[in-house]
Amino acid sequence: MTNSSFERPSEFALIAELFAPLARASGAFGLKDDAALIAPPPDHELVITTDALVEGVHFRSDDPPASIAKKALRVNLSDLAAKSADAAGYLLALSLPRTANMTWLRSFADGLREDQNAFDVSLYGGDTTSTPGPLTIAITAFGFMPHGAMIRRASAKPGDLVFVSGTIGDAGGGLDVLRNGSKDNDYLVDRYREPQPRLKLGRALRGLANAAIDVSDGLLADLGHIAETSGVRIEVEASRIPLSPQLRALWGEDCVIHATTSGDDYEIAFTVADNRQGLIEGIAKLKAATRITEIGRVVAGQGVALLDGNGREIPVPRRGFTHF
Ligand code: ADP
Ligand code: MG
Repeated sequence: MTNSSFERPSEFALIAELFAPLARASGAFGLKDDAALIAPPPDHELVITTDALVEGVHFRSDDPPASIAKKALRVNLSDLAAKSADAAGYLLALSLPRTANMTWLRSFADGLREDQNAFDVSLYGGDTTSTPGPLTIAITAFGFMPHGAMIRRASAKPGDLVFVSGTIGDAGGGLDVLRNGSKDNDYLVDRYREPQPRLKLGRALRGLANAAIDVSDGLLADLGHIAETSGVRIEVEASRIPLSPQLRALWGEDCVIHATTSGDDYEIAFTVADNRQGLIEGIAKLKAATRITEIGRVVAGQGVALLDGNGREIPVPRRGFTHF
């Protein structure tokens, strides 16, 4: 966010200029009504999720506004992806400090437009208010899916294999690069600023995965949520965790522990019955063009363990990110 002089039109002019063009769905009424209408297709359920991003907590003041917009939308789309929903739209509640000027806001809206095109979603409404506090972006995203098809966290079964998409830890590495000014590493910084919601993969998992979660707090912490809600134990083999060469170069020796406990990956971790292994690998490649890696197993018991090459548990100091 820039700190140049405060130059902003009225709330209504701002909505008309920046946000009305993004409200493409007919049920959004061009943002000219009090509320929007959403009609799920027959026999479908509405899947809905919300995530707020706060300046200084979830993004840095000097992050590009278009990236901030994309991250705000994508972290929500990532939740829909993990549940296997077809994303349809979102609501946007903005709390703006006086330092958020029109230049900043125009770039922010440009970022939203690009992502609406990339992920085929529409803006449906929102709220705009000023704040004496940090800039806050709250997005509520929704999608549809056939009745009963949502992939829950709570349905992993002993014997399932555990997979994860993409590579793990890159966003944590990117944040490290930004914070510590270590040598430029655009790949890692991009992974932190603009995560990829795995919507195609999530869609491909429908009817196949037993349980899924999007990795936002750290892989081990999030697998812990599956283990807890499903009443099972998850064992992960450290040597199988997919790590990018850029992250290995940055973090070296204890890369795996770092990577599995740092947040903001927005990959999908999921479990499938072991007789579906081949099927799931084929489908991920064909339908989602997304790398997936088998990293472990669901067994009876509780908790999550990271295992070394000898099957011994590696002590992990801090499982993942929490806000409180
Ligand atoms: P209300 O009088 O109910 O507070 P507003 O004046 O805040 O309504 O909003 C008018 C219209 O503009 C509504 O359709 C609302 O959804 C939309 N809107 C307001 N702020 C935003 C925003 N940041 N993004 C998208 N739509 C918005
Ligand atoms: Mg209002």
